[in-house]
Amino acid sequence: MKFREIIRYPDERLFSISKEVADFNENIVKLAGEMAGFLRHNGGFGIAAVQWGVALRMAAVQPDGKTGEPVILINPKIIKAADAVTGEEGCLSIPGLWLEISRPRSLEISALDIHGEKFVMRFSDYSARAVCHEIDHMNGRLIWDCLPENERRSVIGNFLDEFAGS
Ligand SMILES: [Zn+2]
Repeated sequence: MKFREIIRYPDERLFSISKEVADFNENIVKLAGEMAGFLRHNGGFGIAAVQWGVALRMAAVQPDGKTGEPVILINPKIIKAADAVTGEEGCLSIPGLWLEISRPRSLEISALDIHGEKFVMRFSDYSARAVCHEIDHMNGRLIWDCLPENERRSVIGNFLDEFAGS
């Protein structure tokens, strides 16, 4: 199966604020199917629509335990977050970079499904990390935006040096 191309830093579309999905039409259903298929095929924890250049608040995330079908989250909102945990985190749009990022260990979110129906779901550990990561994408934020400013600048500088050199 062939998937759309993941856009990579420094593509400016990664900095756009994604819009809420308001029209639950067949394009949304199709996009959701492609995103779930991408995760099944590639084995990642999550992908946000904006990583395909589609600036809509939509993501596919692997549920807890990394088994079962990817969950589609549309217009997700964090209701509760608890217990920060630091762990290694990467991003398909910044290939090769891994950073230690602090995220909640458990999350409760509300979101809409592909039919526009609201649901509430809990995530923990890697899945909670993925949900936070994808919501950050919807807000134009990348993993290094979670770091203190001086650290952030040096990480981006090092990445660009490596990026330009390859
Ligand atoms: Zn990412």
